[in-house]
Amino acid sequence: MSNADIKQRFLFPDSDIRGEIVRLENTLAPALQQRGYPMAMEGLLSEAMAAVVLMAGTLKFRGRLSLQARGEGPVSLLLAESTHDNGVRGLVQHRKDDGQYHSLADMLGSNAIMALTIRPDEGRQYQGVVPLEGENLAACLAGYFNQSEQLPTRLWLAAGNGRAAGLLIQRLPEKVASAEDNALTWEHVTTLADTLTMEELLDLPVETVLHRLFHEQPPQLPAPDPVAFSCTCSREKVANTLISLGKEELQSILDEQEAVTISCDFCQSNETFDAVDLDQMIHALDNTDQ
Ligand SMILES: [Zn+2]
Repeated sequence: MSNADIKQRFLFPDSDIRGEIVRLENTLAPALQQRGYPMAMEGLLSEAMAAVVLMAGTLKFRGRLSLQARGEGPVSLLLAESTHDNGVRGLVQHRKDDGQYHSLADMLGSNAIMALTIRPDEGRQYQGVVPLEGENLAACLAGYFNQSEQLPTRLWLAAGNGRAAGLLIQRLPEKVASAEDNALTWEHVTTLADTLTMEELLDLPVETVLHRLFHEQPPQLPAPDPVAFSCTCSREKVANTLISLGKEELQSILDEQEAVTISCDFCQSNETFDAVDLDQMIHALDNTDQ
C-alpha cells in the first residue's frame, strides 16, 4: 500500500488512549488541481480534508462528517467531508487574493462561522458549532472537542507541497486502565506529540513519526486503512438539479444553446446534456403537470 494516502490507527497498550495519523497526497489532487487556489487557501483546504478523515474515524457508525466554514473574508466557503470509510472531498470558494493571511481568522474575515455536521446513514444528523478562537484549524477543532465532546481529543495538522497530514490522539472512557493511569499516559503522549514539528508530520513516513514519538511505549498498529478522494456527484443528481429549474427555464436553455455542461464543484467532472436530453426533461415535466 502506498504510504501517501493512508490512515494508521494506533492504540497504547494497557491504556484507553488511541490515535490516528493520516497522510493525503493523491487524495488531494482532484480537489486542488486546476483550481489556482492561493497557497494559504490550498493549505487550509488540505488541512481540513486531513481533519475530516481523522474525525470521521472517531464515528461509531456508518455515515459522513462535514466541516463547513463561511465568512466575509477572502474565503467565502470552506467545505470538507469524509465518509466513515475514508472517502474524502472538499472545496474552497474565495473572493479575492491579496495574499496577506496570517491566520484562519484573516482568511475567513468577519462574521465567520464554522460547523461540523455528522450525517449517519441511518438516524438523525447532528450539527455542532466550532468556536473560531484558535489561530489555526487544529486549534479551533481542539476548542470544539473541549466544549462539546466528553472525550478529550487533541489534533495536529500540517499541509504543503500538495500534501496534508494529521495526527489525532483521543482519550476513551476507562476500560482497561484506571482513570489515574490514563491521565498519566494522556499527559505523556500528548506532551510527546507536541514535540513533533509540522515538517516531520508532513514529510516523514508514518512509522517513523510514530517511532520517533513513542518508541519508549510503542503503540499497537493495526493494518493501515486506505484513504481516497470520493465524490458523491452523479449524472442523475445533476439531471435532477436541471429538472428542478422547471419547464420554462429548461426551454429557454434549449432555445439558446445546443447543450448544457455542468461541472461538479468538488471533483470538476463534467456532465453534458444535449438538446435531446433537455427535450426529454421538458416532456417529462409536461407529463407530471397533467
Ligand atoms: Zn463530483
